[in-house]
Amino acid sequence: MTILVTGGCGFIGTNFIREWIASIQEAVVNLDCLTYAGNAHNLSDVAASPLYSFRRASIGDAAAVRDLLSRYDVRAIVNFAAESHVDRSIAHADAFVETNVVATQRLLETARAHHQALSGEARAHFRFLHISTDEVYGSLPANADPFTERSPFRPNSPYAASKAASDHLVRATNVTYGLPTLTINCSNNYGEYQYPEKLIPLVITSALAGRPLPIYGDGKQIRDWLYVADHCRAVRDVLAGGRPGETYNVGGDGEKTNIEVVNAICRVLDDLRPRPDGISYAAQIAFVRDRPGHDRRYAVDFTKIRKELGWRPAMKFEDGIRRTVRWYLDNPDWISATEGRRVSSEAR
Ligand code: NAD
Repeated sequence: MTILVTGGCGFIGTNFIREWIASIQEAVVNLDCLTYAGNAHNLSDVAASPLYSFRRASIGDAAAVRDLLSRYDVRAIVNFAAESHVDRSIAHADAFVETNVVATQRLLETARAHHQALSGEARAHFRFLHISTDEVYGSLPANADPFTERSPFRPNSPYAASKAASDHLVRATNVTYGLPTLTINCSNNYGEYQYPEKLIPLVITSALAGRPLPIYGDGKQIRDWLYVADHCRAVRDVLAGGRPGETYNVGGDGEKTNIEVVNAICRVLDDLRPRPDGISYAAQIAFVRDRPGHDRRYAVDFTKIRKELGWRPAMKFEDGIRRTVRWYLDNPDWISATEGRRVSSEAR
């Protein structure tokens, strides 16, 4: 059997596929249309594996998806494909609606038709796992309890709104047509292969290049940081044991303000790659105008996945951030190739 992973050339998908092949040893076909955020070279070390196949196409390309579903005898779809950067959604929301809503709905329809044509065990065990975000719940007041799966959706950015719409479509496809769907709403991921437009890799790469380290507003926005390998394990656990029709919050138990995160990165860099002048990288911190509609705090309660599936995050932020910084230090070629692609995508 095979699983179909969409968006597998992006940050989380890359980590998920590599770990899937190493740990589960089941075939995986990666469907990715390679936007600016997708990089097929991220998986060059598994490309030769007989367990890995790649197809460049959009999740909205029903013919391509149909072909893969039948050709590879797919038993599950894990949908990571999305436009994922809040700032880009503020500048150009259209692409977010096109991918996260319209193309996702097409993928759901294609999956539904495939599922309905199955019979027996294959039909009973088929799964559609949709990866979403805690940002659908909106901003959490400072002293409020973390969001649960029952919290109402109050998305504040076009990105979060488009993901909330996709979550509703996934739910509707389950309730109306019986597609066995699962949804994960997870907090901010960090780790290897993250595109350097998101806070942590942006700060690491900017620090190394001698550029300012931009922090929005007062830097006191709180995010719950989740190491990407912990998220990938949650995806495997939900796929294996999650109940169809359910959603699962996945959090890192690691609430930090943005300024705490940036200072932590600077401390690790000061230790591993001190600046030649001996001054801390923290001297490069530059506060910039806040993002419009910037959510103050996100945090999720992951009691449900802990109780039902025994999952909990394993990586402590201090260890994960050190490992992440070290990976970027060890991969200057990946950074320069990615930054080259970033300049050309922003120039368009
Ligand atoms: P990413 O931006 O790094 O990667 C997205 C991938 O999807 C890219 O490889 C891109 O080429 C591909 N893609 C985009 N549109 C496509 C389409 N129409 N068809 C096929 N492929 C397409 O994103 P990420 O950080 O890896 O996030 C993966 C998923 O997890 C997203 O759905 C995102 O909303 C969700 N999520 C991410 C985080 C996080 O902190 N990174 C947190 C919560 C949820």
